[in-house]
Amino acid sequence: MVEAIETLLEERRRIPPPAAFTAAARVADATIYDEAATDFRAFWMGHALREISWFREPTEILDDRNPPFYRWFADGELNVSYNCLDRHVAAGGGDKVAYTWIGEPADEERVLTYSDLLAEVSRCANALRELGVRKGDRVAIYMGMVPELPVAMLACARLGAAHSVVFGGFSAAALADRINDASCNVVITCDGAWRRGQVVPLKVLVDEALVSTPGVEHVLVLRRTGQEVAWQEGRDVWWHDVVPAASPECAPERMNAEDVLYLLYTSGTTAKPKGICHTTAGYLLGCIMSHQWVFDVRPDDVYWCAADCGWVTGHSYIVYGPLANHTTGVMYEGTPEHPSWSRHWEIVQRHRVSIYYTAPTAIRAFVKAGDEHLARFDLSSLRLLGTVGEPINPEAWMWYHSRVGRGECPIVDTWWQTETGSIMIAPLPGVTTIKPGSATRALPGVVAQVVDEQGAEVPLGSGGYLVLKQPWPSMLRTLWGDDDRFVSTYWSRFGRDVYFTGDGARRDEDGDFWLLGRVDDVINVAGHRISTTEIESALVGHPAVAEAAAIGAHDAIKGEQICAFVILKDGIDQSVELRGALVAHVATQIGKFARPGMLLFTTDLPKTRSGKIMRRLLKDVAEGRELGDATTLRDPAIVLAIKSQADAQLGR
Ligand code: AMP
Repeated sequence: MVEAIETLLEERRRIPPPAAFTAAARVADATIYDEAATDFRAFWMGHALREISWFREPTEILDDRNPPFYRWFADGELNVSYNCLDRHVAAGGGDKVAYTWIGEPADEERVLTYSDLLAEVSRCANALRELGVRKGDRVAIYMGMVPELPVAMLACARLGAAHSVVFGGFSAAALADRINDASCNVVITCDGAWRRGQVVPLKVLVDEALVSTPGVEHVLVLRRTGQEVAWQEGRDVWWHDVVPAASPECAPERMNAEDVLYLLYTSGTTAKPKGICHTTAGYLLGCIMSHQWVFDVRPDDVYWCAADCGWVTGHSYIVYGPLANHTTGVMYEGTPEHPSWSRHWEIVQRHRVSIYYTAPTAIRAFVKAGDEHLARFDLSSLRLLGTVGEPINPEAWMWYHSRVGRGECPIVDTWWQTETGSIMIAPLPGVTTIKPGSATRALPGVVAQVVDEQGAEVPLGSGGYLVLKQPWPSMLRTLWGDDDRFVSTYWSRFGRDVYFTGDGARRDEDGDFWLLGRVDDVINVAGHRISTTEIESALVGHPAVAEAAAIGAHDAIKGEQICAFVILKDGIDQSVELRGALVAHVATQIGKFARPGMLLFTTDLPKTRSGKIMRRLLKDVAEGRELGDATTLRDPAIVLAIKSQADAQLGR
């Protein structure tokens, strides 16, 4: 039988949880998995009643009469902003710091306690109400990473309006599409946002977008970067004119558990963006529990999720999970490389950060930049590290573990998607033996499997398609305005009650999951179906390599041949010998048949705005074709540079 995806790399390193970590951990033994497996409904209901403050407690748990349109806790009533703010202040926790915010321009810092945040959210909610926002409306938020961004999200939640946060790096056209798809009536933005020392003129982009969005009545504008902006009287309103003057009290709306909390559009690569729709109670519960279990948060932690609120990671693990858990967080406005690759480590040292969560793309960039950027900092406050967004190559994982975590901090590799709302597969750091490159196992209450083309579970040790087999509270409820596409994208391939993730995975002999990337990226070479992740991991395992991307390019004989794009570490020069050594390295790590037929050195890789490699464009480069649509790239110019570097090496 041809395997759905063959797996080739063997990673044998294992790191059990440090005894001292387990001794103090929130979850210190594995009984929680059994408890969840015995009766997952009762398990989730018990947590829902304990962890959420309800206006009206639910009596229904899961309505599964019409899959895949599941409903959770459907007769419950609550307000998410109440759960994130009011209840902590009422319990005497108002003076605790919610966010220490650090601006990109040096030395800018703001501290917001839970009381501060509650007052600001209430003022913002009152101001939005004055602008006509009502329960059931949709509000677009297009801002940089300033404290007012979570304030705006929570203000919408307080009023019962769904927010649709659009990452501040998207173009005016992308913003207009998203505003129109959701029929937003208000947009919240800034004059500009700081990005790598430059001002991104957000208000200019909003003005451009709003030419084609007839439904927008008002734009609420925060002054951040201070440049002159065009102004449309009657439509545009300054934040500083209306928010500070509004009352700091605003009663939270009573929301049904299944009312929409927010929409978040996933970019995809070419297709029309999908408006992922999350509802109120189940989503909140998924964030609360996973944040406690996976990050082991304790009252004295300083927690830093270095994502942007424009992505689901920011929604669930900067805003909703941490605030509902009364956590103290660091929030940073800028990117890791500005003004230098030391920026994050300087922040960790200064603020005594204890939990740090970032993406593999950042970790590989740190490796490339060199250890000197972190060597002079005291990172001893760190006790737990996390990663999300892509498969992490074992060597990047080892670097993170030894250099950032001093060989002492557990790493939680968290697999999940915008669609799943919260983490689905990850270690419990006090319980799980971790392995470099494995997300380990499904969280309590989540059932993940690897299946073949027919949907049958593959034996341990083999690869296939990753599916989720049982509904979970934070699951997406639909795609905004498109139930049919919701069903056909996620719930058709293996049946209406099996969620297809679109990812490939393998389970090892212990049952641990190893993510293999998107199944669309699988390479078919000489009858073997192999994942890009494994070839990339083999390459990154070579000491000269910082980052790599593998794709399958058409080959007249083999059908497809493997083509690898390789970025070398700073200070290492490309050469014919090195190319040969890297090809040989893949052959010894994986097997001769997986040897790249083409290996090109590049200085960059095409990435989406959330940092994921866009392999389709590399395929165009390798096959010498005209480049496809590059508009969703963070920097479209990069593909042209790669193309000319490739053409030079190939003598084209
Ligand atoms: P997004 O919805 O943009 O957050 O992207 C979700 C996708 O990112 C998943 O379907 C995976 O392909 C990838 N992904 C996220 N986290 C991980 C992880 N820890 N390991 C491997 N892939 C991941």
